[in-house]
Amino acid sequence: MTDDDLVARLRAALSDGAVAAAEQINADDLHDESLHPASGSPVCVVRPRSTAEVIEIVAAARHHGAPIVARGSGTGLSGAAIPIDGSILVSFDQMTTILDLDVANQVAVIQPGVTLAQLDEALAGTGLRYPVQPGEHSGSLGGNVSTNAGGMRAVRDGVTRNHVLGLQMVLADGSVLSTGGKIVKSSSGYDLTQLVIGSEGTLALVTEVTVKLSIRYEHSATLVAAFADLDAVADALPHLSVGGLAPAVLEYIDALTMAAITRAADIELSIPASVAESTGAFLVVVLEDSSADRLEHDLEVTASALDAHGAIDTFVLSAHQGPRLIEARERAFWVAKANGATDIVDIVVPRAEVAPYLAEVGRIAEEHATFLTGCGHVGDGNVHMSIFEGDPDRRRSLLDALFSAGLRRGGQISGEHGIGSAKREAYLRHADPVRLELEARIKEAFDPDGLFNPTRGGGRRTS
Ligand SMILES: Cc1cc2nc3c(=O)[nH]c(=O)nc-3n(C[C@H](O)[C@H](O)[C@H](O)COP(=O)(O)OP(=O)(O)OC[C@H]3O[C@@H](n4cnc5c(N)ncnc54)[C@H](O)[C@@H]3O)c2cc1C
Repeated sequence: MTDDDLVARLRAALSDGAVAAAEQINADDLHDESLHPASGSPVCVVRPRSTAEVIEIVAAARHHGAPIVARGSGTGLSGAAIPIDGSILVSFDQMTTILDLDVANQVAVIQPGVTLAQLDEALAGTGLRYPVQPGEHSGSLGGNVSTNAGGMRAVRDGVTRNHVLGLQMVLADGSVLSTGGKIVKSSSGYDLTQLVIGSEGTLALVTEVTVKLSIRYEHSATLVAAFADLDAVADALPHLSVGGLAPAVLEYIDALTMAAITRAADIELSIPASVAESTGAFLVVVLEDSSADRLEHDLEVTASALDAHGAIDTFVLSAHQGPRLIEARERAFWVAKANGATDIVDIVVPRAEVAPYLAEVGRIAEEHATFLTGCGHVGDGNVHMSIFEGDPDRRRSLLDALFSAGLRRGGQISGEHGIGSAKREAYLRHADPVRLELEARIKEAFDPDGLFNPTRGGGRRTS
């Protein structure tokens, strides 16, 4: 069976133009946004339009023994959607239909290629929103599900797995499994929806997603508080989620990163020089409410709490500037990349460990004579660091030390970007062997021939 046979079979089974092989393959399909992993050579890139076509692809792949790599929008940061040699790259960007927008049940059923931006647009005027907002809105819901994406609002709204009620998926034997539904609770057997969320395309191909929708708040305000250092930010945090306060965003940005992202976005925060001089870290707080009066009240309480608990100064941004700063923070990755970052890591530690962990990170950086900057979802303990280290040996040792330190403090290697290929070696080295063994058996049960995204994500496998 040759690659040509595989391509011919797929062309016969799928819609016109759905299969690109050899020189027809677009280079854009061969990367995600991770900074290291290099692409292999896929046999072809296919763009199914329906679950029925996905079943055909899986049958052809099984028959030819060709691995399948799933791809959403390719915005992932861990190299999980990059094709491997001899694979079929299945791009879901033609499965973009919102199948059911059910306002009464506050639920949407969508195909996996729908992007966050498309879903948000479709929800305009309904009073509802999908609240999980990872920083890249061109990411697809299928990708978000498969990485268990988070983002700045996770501190209040949770991550993807908290908002997915059900999935339709094509399994490695070509059968279709539907889990969950328009229901918010179930005590009926193993929770297979949750098992597949975050599995990075290694267990099944997701063909439909049922998400829970939330109220869209009409009023919001953004505060920026300047602190001497991250320890001071950490000390203030517990005082911001008391007495009914529930900030939508609690984001720390170190002074260097703040300067870089505001410069890149052309935002002038007008922070007095005397404040800027003594500021080492900023805390950005977003408050939202459906009532302007309650928002005003929360704003006053939050500003007082910040001032009483270590802020050098607190600024309320204008309705125009607030969203722009959040957008600039979402683009921090591009700024770091443009400045030569070699790695972006998203270690998560318990919230109270963020400050001591980052102090340790400073010592590790010094020992390695290297440079890193940071920002992150401090409200949920997810530290994002940009690393600038060109020497491969020093880089490897530095990453290992950062992961080890995070794990020692009760954390995990990745809070939301996933393991992919970029962190797989480190994951296999650091993860509990009991866990790895069980993950291997789960993989075996779902995908005995190692068809789906082999050599990626969590779990030890022999393939
Ligand atoms: C500027 C920027 C900011 C970002 N900010 C955040 C952030 O704040 N929080 C966050 O969590 N992430 C963030 N990300 C990372 C990225 O947007 C997320 O990981 C997102 O979930 C990836 O979605 P995608 O559609 O691009 O998936 P891809 O990168 O295409 O794929 C990701 C994984 O999903 C699998 N997959 C995709 N579709 C399917 C499917 N239908 N069935 C089975 N498997 C599938 C792929 O095989 C791969 O394992 C950011 C990225 C950028 C570039």
